[in-house]
Amino acid sequence: MRYVQIDTQSNPQSASTPSTEKQKDLGRLLVTELQQLGLADAHIDDFGYVYASITSNTAKQVPVICFCAHMDTAPDSSGTGVKPLLHKNYDGSELVLPDDTTQVISPREHPYLKQRIGDDIITASGTTLLGADDKAGVAVIMDFVQFIQQHPELPHGAIKILFTPDEEIGRGVDKADLQKLGADFGYTLDGSERGSLEEENFSADGVTVTFHGISVHPGYAKDKMVNAIKVAAYFVDLLPKDELSPESTEGRYGFVHPVHMEGMLEKATVQFIIRDFVTARLAAYEEWLKDKVAQALAKFPGAKADFVVKEQYRNMKEVLDQHPQVIQYAEEAIRRAGMEPVKMPIRGGTDGSRLSFMGLPCPNIFTGEMAFHGRHEYVSVQDMQKSVETLVNLVRIWEEKAG
Ligand SMILES: [Zn+2]
Repeated sequence: MRYVQIDTQSNPQSASTPSTEKQKDLGRLLVTELQQLGLADAHIDDFGYVYASITSNTAKQVPVICFCAHMDTAPDSSGTGVKPLLHKNYDGSELVLPDDTTQVISPREHPYLKQRIGDDIITASGTTLLGADDKAGVAVIMDFVQFIQQHPELPHGAIKILFTPDEEIGRGVDKADLQKLGADFGYTLDGSERGSLEEENFSADGVTVTFHGISVHPGYAKDKMVNAIKVAAYFVDLLPKDELSPESTEGRYGFVHPVHMEGMLEKATVQFIIRDFVTARLAAYEEWLKDKVAQALAKFPGAKADFVVKEQYRNMKEVLDQHPQVIQYAEEAIRRAGMEPVKMPIRGGTDGSRLSFMGLPCPNIFTGEMAFHGRHEYVSVQDMQKSVETLVNLVRIWEEKAG
């Protein structure tokens, strides 16, 4: 509840790192608290990243584990003046937020709340987001650090802590120094429902199709002009409406999704994002899309097109499958905390995916944060406690299994 009151909203329009200086306000506080907990090397760098280490207290050679969370909140909803409210022993009713009583968190719209009856629920007050995404993750890690420092009798290997800025604008690991971090495996603490463990995310490409027309004075254009706007429009109309699109798919299905279009007579571009859990399918979708381009060109003789594919990110499962213990131990840690692990594929990207491909295999563990990026955001205190318990179990398991 303290951390969410510090405004750390990131800004996609800013070119600097961190994108907003105010993110360092939280970073500096975390450094102070980590130092007070005995992590002498805790520090924040110029880019706003917080690094800290807990030293090994076992004779065994244990892989170095990193726990990671992001400090920024989403630009979609205000993060200024957040007033967190604690609803103790939640009774299953609608939560009316006092600073804007039209904002009601209802168990009808948020069925997960029904499973949390009896828990203590934290919400914002109606005019801002809460910022449990990802200050729940930050709080879980900080509570974990406190617990592990107070329990030196529990053997564990070296543990690294990493707090990052700018996750919400897709730049969360741009300036992460993994050399300096020195971890073998990582876990992001940025998942939602109790017991959930995310090891899979979309593989993603961007495609830009540029149509070139032929410009002629419109008064004298007969049989000469080719209008790129019309070619692009025809092409977009060839895309399926009830399959292969975000609005018609869920679960494990991918899509081909136009996100931006602009054009003039001479030139029109259509930008796509291409997504699937199976990386090989991206190329198949792109071939299919090329076929639609060819159909459009056939309809408008004289038009030409460029087709440019840019790799965006990849399914982290490709990396994690090479290190099965990272997932196995997390599953066991969740079970030891009395839950059954629930594996959910992420229909998007994650910092963990980029970290995985940068050499730090890194699935995502639950924190209880729900309905993020908006005013209805909430988190259960008991879910956060279960997350802390999972982390304690996890470092114990890594130590137990080490040779
Ligand atoms: Zn997040």
